[in-house]
Amino acid sequence: MAIKWLIDASYFVAAVLFILGLKGMSSPVSARKGIVWAGVGMVLATVVTFLTPGMGNYLLMIIAIGLGGALAWISGKKVAMTDMPQMVAIYNGMGGGAAAAIAAVEFARGEMHGTVVTLLATLGALIGAVSFSGSVVAWAKLQGVMKNAFRLPAQNAVNIVLALATIGLGIALVIAPAIDPMLVVAFFVLALILGTIITLPIGGADMPVVISLFNAFTGLAVGFEGFVMGIPALIIAGIVVGAAGTLLTQLMAKAMNRPISNILFVPMAAAGGGEAVEGEQKEVGAMDAAAMMRYASKVIIVPGYGMAVAGAQHKVWEMTELLEEAGVEVSFAIHPVAGRMPGHMNVLLAEAGVPYEKIFDLEEINADFAQADVALVIGANDVVNPSARTDKSSPIYGMPILNADMAQNVIVVKRGKGTGYSGIENALFYKDNTRLLYGSAQQAVAEVIQHVKAMSV
Ligand code: NDP
Repeated sequence: MAIKWLIDASYFVAAVLFILGLKGMSSPVSARKGIVWAGVGMVLATVVTFLTPGMGNYLLMIIAIGLGGALAWISGKKVAMTDMPQMVAIYNGMGGGAAAAIAAVEFARGEMHGTVVTLLATLGALIGAVSFSGSVVAWAKLQGVMKNAFRLPAQNAVNIVLALATIGLGIALVIAPAIDPMLVVAFFVLALILGTIITLPIGGADMPVVISLFNAFTGLAVGFEGFVMGIPALIIAGIVVGAAGTLLTQLMAKAMNRPISNILFVPMAAAGGGEAVEGEQKEVGAMDAAAMMRYASKVIIVPGYGMAVAGAQHKVWEMTELLEEAGVEVSFAIHPVAGRMPGHMNVLLAEAGVPYEKIFDLEEINADFAQADVALVIGANDVVNPSARTDKSSPIYGMPILNADMAQNVIVVKRGKGTGYSGIENALFYKDNTRLLYGSAQQAVAEVIQHVKAMSV
């Protein structure tokens, strides 16, 4: 009795810690603390589970936790910031797979068959299995293991038939008088194929949105399995993840101006779409770029994927400090989908020591570009492409962009004539007030720093 009370109370505390953790993660200032809170909640929930009577094979449990923990520790330490989306995909897939596995165990036991538990287990199994196989495909694509997009001739019809067949098998499973192992196997196989088939045709730029959607799915599946096992902490954790994943998916889809239905069912326009851009790119040297910024009053820096690849954030902050010492007002403008995952730029800048009050979201800063002497675009492309405003044939038409083109002068740091993620040309690079500073971001900014220093002595 006392043990049961202790377990229930601990699950309650764990659930509160999950919610506090998520609240903490809503702001960069408290995000680290939020992760710790949620982690403590997870450890607590895991430890008290060992106290549950009739838990069975402790050795297997400890080996599984040891293996999983060690793998997560090593991969978490090693992962590059640019590889985070695929890491999130694979972790998320494991969550979905675990939820489906819980359902499989419940089916194998068959004790609760015919009750609402079977229905919930089946729902969790369906969503969890789809999320598992879909996330594995997403990982394979982002990791470059799977290179070619794969689209069946009547893809959407196949998706619908497969989804209906899987749901049909699920219903049969729930209403059958007893658990039929063949039916269970067929149901799982179809659900896994469904997740794979849905994800295979989805293109790279849409992939992080899909990962976020699967994340919401996993949360939902875990919540259902929490009901099956009668563990409130699992239910709450699942619901929290499901809700957060859903909100994030919506936010990303909105920031890319791609409705979720389009992401899932309509392939992104082929790379290279959009109107041809006229004019030529005008180059600037590091010394002139340094002078333009050193003698400016207001500079807005727009970081993008290229800054992340080059790992240039520390140099960018060093340059910012020098400019500020020279009396220049410097701020950072962050597009919601700059880089390859939400918050990518915020994390990098925070890592380099940029104070949060210098970092602004699109809505907060967009009006300020018109008063800026220089907009310094570092390794960003699509998020400052003005054709998103005007060119209806552009694959990024309608995506809100940062108004870098409205600054007095624009300096763009990039290595060459490479396009952004969407694969289209950027009219900003050809504008009269734009100058290209060619080079890898870290190297280019380091050269600017040398010149700013020389101008300040
Ligand atoms: P982009 O991918 O549009 O552009 C990156 C730019 O960086 C390129 O122009 C490239 O040009 C340059 N670059 C690459 N490497 C370097 C380097 N070492 N040094 C300097 N420059 C470099 O990045 P954005 O951040 O502007 O846009 C993000 C894109 O990703 C958007 O299309 C968005 O929709 C998509 N996306 C983002 C998600 C998110 O959550 N953040 C989710 C889904 C999609 P060059 O090769 O010439 O150097």
